Amino acid sequence: MKHSRLYSVAFNKCPRCAEGDFFITKSAYSFKFDKMNKHCPNCGENLVPEPGFYQGALYMSYAFYVVFMLAYFLVFVNLFGEYLDYFLFSIIPVLIILTPYFYRLARRSWLAIFISPRAEEVVQNIK
Ligand SMILES: [Zn+2]
Repeated sequence: MKHSRLYSVAFNKCPRCAEGDFFITKSAYSFKFDKMNKHCPNCGENLVPEPGFYQGALYMSYAFYVVFMLAYFLVFVNLFGEYLDYFLFSIIPVLIILTPYFYRLARRSWLAIFISPRAEEVVQNIK
């Protein structure tokens, strides 16, 4: 379903219209991975509601890291249980590689909490 919060968070879209891009670049692995549009290029929704708004994204980021590390730990224990000494050596590079991805995911999901998808388009999808 296109006009859902999950869609806009997952596909780098504006939480209001699900059309305009949230971050300027499509990929989390480019040099400008952290550059955001101040306003949605499609509907004009303000993507930076107030100064310091994205400090709250730290909590989202923390939650993503905790969930990922728990899942990684469970997979690691089940597949490589006898090499548990190497758990930290293996997870640290993975976390470093995932940092830009979680940074963007946390910002999109934090804003999606406060901005609901456009009401009339949600109603159209229900029919
Ligand atoms: Zn928009």
